[in-house]
Amino acid sequence: MRFVLILIFVALFSSLWGQSVSISLFNDQSLRSIVVSQMLGKYSLIADSSKLLELTNDDAIYISMYGEKLAVRNSRGPIGFFNSVKFVSRDSVGMFRLAAVNPKGDVRQYNNNLSLSVAFYRILAINEVEVDKYLSGVVEAETGPNASLELYKAQAVLARTFLYGNIHKHNTEGFDLCDGEHCQAYKGCPMRNAIIYSATRATFGVVVLGPDSSYITSSFHANCGGETESAGVAWLNPKSYLVSVKDPFCQNSPMAQWSKTIPTEQWVTYLQNHGFKVSLKTPVIQFDFSQINRRQYYRIGKDSIPTKQIRSDFKLRSTFFSVIGGQKEILIKGKGYGHGVGMCQEGAIQMAKIGYKYDEILNYYFKGILLARVPK
Ligand SMILES: [Zn+2]
Ligand SMILES: [Zn+2]
Repeated sequence: MRFVLILIFVALFSSLWGQSVSISLFNDQSLRSIVVSQMLGKYSLIADSSKLLELTNDDAIYISMYGEKLAVRNSRGPIGFFNSVKFVSRDSVGMFRLAAVNPKGDVRQYNNNLSLSVAFYRILAINEVEVDKYLSGVVEAETGPNASLELYKAQAVLARTFLYGNIHKHNTEGFDLCDGEHCQAYKGCPMRNAIIYSATRATFGVVVLGPDSSYITSSFHANCGGETESAGVAWLNPKSYLVSVKDPFCQNSPMAQWSKTIPTEQWVTYLQNHGFKVSLKTPVIQFDFSQINRRQYYRIGKDSIPTKQIRSDFKLRSTFFSVIGGQKEILIKGKGYGHGVGMCQEGAIQMAKIGYKYDEILNYYFKGILLARVPK
């Protein structure tokens, strides 16, 4: 497959290396109390614009919400109450540890700077982090552990595309993106450092553009079940590059198949509630439904219900399922995991394993796209 890489140099020697983004950490939780400690590099602790101290090795700083203020102390005792507290890295290798104490949560490691304030009745913790370090964290959080370099490259390009396409998403809240699924998952520095950083660096600045030269909706999912879904069907929001493609690569992967049983009585009641003219006397064979290719509706005669709705109501892994009627229970045999739109991760993992390059992988799952390198 041909790969067109357009290098756009708007400003000569422009570089993304020094560019930072601001990410709200633990954004889905209402942090009230945290502990921050220095791990690598030199850090200054700055409170309300004045420097309080230089952090030494593993010097833990305890920060709690106190009304509109932040109460700060270290192991030697209280330091004071402040509106804002910053941990400023004095060099590019700076790395700190952040532990959520109340509510109790993960202990994570991050690069570069941390700014703290009280907003929306919680501690607003913002990581100002170099773009490629942020992207590396996203790639690890969003990708399974068994991936190879070319898959990590494809994920890095999708993460970068999302970043630039959504950079204003949280503008009114004072940061660029959140670290939850609302934007893209980010749990700090990747543990599989070497391979992920090299994937991010190797695709430095590369993003995916659609036919109108805007950033694409860079969606992906765990496993498509053999055929991806179009955005028009899944989200009622058609995109020329998010169309259904056959995927022979994911079919022997861990999430390729699943099944679930539902008591026939419950199934009949469910269908009746959705206007189906069925009863417990309906021959069970009439409940049979087959998806060789993806279908939008489960139908019996003239009655129908979107497969999307069945997926949601019964918490199924995908909309790509067949139904086999039975006297006591009906069997739902499904394929894939996720919404099915865009890149199939398990298919992409397999493509990478057998030698496809990241641009070939992206061009396989997204149609009519252009890979471009963004300048600053
Ligand atoms: Zn968000
Ligand atoms: Zn697939």
